[in-house]
Amino acid sequence: MSKTLAGGCQCGRVRYTATIENDDAYLCHCRMCQRATGGFAAAFVNLPRAAVAWRSEPDWYRSSPIAHRPFCSACGTPLGFGFLGGLNLDLTVGSFDDPSGFVPTAHSGAESMHEAWLDTSALPRQTSAETQSVVSRWQAAGLEVPE
Ligand SMILES: [Zn+2]
Ligand SMILES: [Zn+2]
Repeated sequence: MSKTLAGGCQCGRVRYTATIENDDAYLCHCRMCQRATGGFAAAFVNLPRAAVAWRSEPDWYRSSPIAHRPFCSACGTPLGFGFLGGLNLDLTVGSFDDPSGFVPTAHSGAESMHEAWLDTSALPRQTSAETQSVVSRWQAAGLEVPE
């Protein structure tokens, strides 16, 4: 059952739609993905390039001799990964407008995996709306805490 989802960068300059056939996603732990996203791993959805329509074009960074990565040069959001000449493209899970439906199904780049970050489900939790340092700044700006 395919569905079309929209996404883009933080500032809104780059927008895309993607037609997905399932909810599969994966984590890449390789050092290049760690550097490219600034995270302990990159969370990606792998799609045929033909399933991705850029509504406004991203910038592309040639991250290695074999790959390039779409991003927004205005706000810096990492948007994905692709092998040069490859038929598929990865989009970053967090760049989708609603990333909540994706399910991780595999680990790539496992040689650089940070085991301590994988199962964090027992850590204490607080929402942004419960975090006074966040709430007071949004209130001072005259705004509600965004989701
Ligand atoms: Zn942007
Ligand atoms: Zn990687």
